[in-house]
Amino acid sequence: MIEERFDAIVVGAGMAGNAAALTMAKRGLKVLQIERGEYPGSKNVQGAILYADMLEKLVPDFREDAPLERHLVEQRFWMMDGKSHTGLHHRSDDFNEEKPNRYTIIRAQFDKWLSSRAQEAGAVVLCETTVKELVKDAYGKVIGVLTDRDGGEVHADVVVLAEGVNGLLGTKAELRERPTPDNVALAVKEMHFLPRETIEARFNLKGDEGVVIEAAGTISAGMTGMGFLYTNKESISIGIGCLVADFQKSGETPYDLLDRFKKHPSIAPLIEGSEVKEYAGHLIPEGGYNAIPQLYGDGWVVVGDAAQLNNALHREGSNLAMTSGRIAGEAIFQVKSRKDPMTKQNLALYKTMLDDSFVIKDLKKYKDMPGLLHIQSQNFFLTYPQLINKALQNFVRVDGTPKIEKEKTTIKSFVSARSWGGLFGDAFRFARAWR
Ligand SMILES: Cc1cc2nc3c(=O)[nH]c(=O)nc-3n(C[C@H](O)[C@H](O)[C@H](O)COP(=O)(O)OP(=O)(O)OC[C@H]3O[C@@H](n4cnc5c(N)ncnc54)[C@H](O)[C@@H]3O)c2cc1C
Repeated sequence: MIEERFDAIVVGAGMAGNAAALTMAKRGLKVLQIERGEYPGSKNVQGAILYADMLEKLVPDFREDAPLERHLVEQRFWMMDGKSHTGLHHRSDDFNEEKPNRYTIIRAQFDKWLSSRAQEAGAVVLCETTVKELVKDAYGKVIGVLTDRDGGEVHADVVVLAEGVNGLLGTKAELRERPTPDNVALAVKEMHFLPRETIEARFNLKGDEGVVIEAAGTISAGMTGMGFLYTNKESISIGIGCLVADFQKSGETPYDLLDRFKKHPSIAPLIEGSEVKEYAGHLIPEGGYNAIPQLYGDGWVVVGDAAQLNNALHREGSNLAMTSGRIAGEAIFQVKSRKDPMTKQNLALYKTMLDDSFVIKDLKKYKDMPGLLHIQSQNFFLTYPQLINKALQNFVRVDGTPKIEKEKTTIKSFVSARSWGGLFGDAFRFARAWR
């Protein structure tokens, strides 16, 4: 056993773990962080959009040396069918502000950098080390971890579980259930390399400006899921993900979906001539508020994806991970400063603080949305995208058909696909889940 005792052990050096380690180390706590990957970020997958506000709360001067790709000036939402897309785009020069609001990043570089900030603050980071299980005392309180190193038991007052979406440690220790297939999406992603000038010309960008596309529709073959395309400096990240339960039911494979997405006539020209250098697959928690497990107990707290803190509707995860990690770190520091023990009762402070943040407020607001989209996936991801694209094409095509006829055809196509009751019912349920 490693004799040295720590104030806190953080399992995982992703967004949540790094935020927790940095927060506690900055406050003077003795922190050990354990990461199974070769280096922080080596195993982590993200699109990846970084939300500056949440990082600024951890590292106010991050823009000076963080490995950032492009700051986003344009967001496109696409509703796709087999050959078309109908888009809602927002582009603004306001986003060329002194402190931009969102950036694209590459996680392998970014996590390494954020971890270096935690190490500078005093956290001890141990890589290529897997935590095999949590160590508990006779009363069930978590008192440390057992790693795969020789004599690898280490003790601490509290363990921060930042082990990502699979969260095997927490489930093995019976702190929570394993996420179910209808609560997690499987996403695949490729990195397509292109010269910087080509990306800038294709997306109408100058300098480090960036564009992201979020896409839904027939690309997910009726399953609950979305595709994305994000511009980096010299590469484009492209990916797609759907609920695991839907993959099980449909027999579709993620790679086939991605292949079809890349070949879509609206996407293919954007990545034409690129060189694919990386391919990755990863789970994303998508159960929302109703899937959040117990967040704290005697001697432990859980943060980030391991706590299912992910806002799938808004495509936000890393910011919820960073915020929950930071809040957990602050709560632990407060308990420690009062010289109180790390009991369930005292660590409830983490939940109180998290409830008061955008993390829980946002997830609570959309608590019915994941269930609705899953149950109605054929309608929302197949029928409506096809109808909308058809209607828009009918609207813009000038072919001598009187407008009144066109309008009647559009209305008829909607009503024959879904009865009036079905249409109003879907609109009502969607509005209620959105409220
Ligand atoms: C394809 C894809 C695209 C995404 N796009 C976006 C996006 O654009 N913007 C956004 O905000 N979010 C996005 N997300 C979500 C985002 O990636 C996650 O919410 C975020 O990474 C969660 O951070 P985390 O620290 O909780 O978990 P992770 O980043 O998964 O970190 C967990 C860490 O724990 C380590 N670990 C696990 N078990 C052990 C163990 N037993 N011992 C030691 N170490 C262990 C892992 O190696 C890993 O480093 C995306 C996710 C995917 C899959």
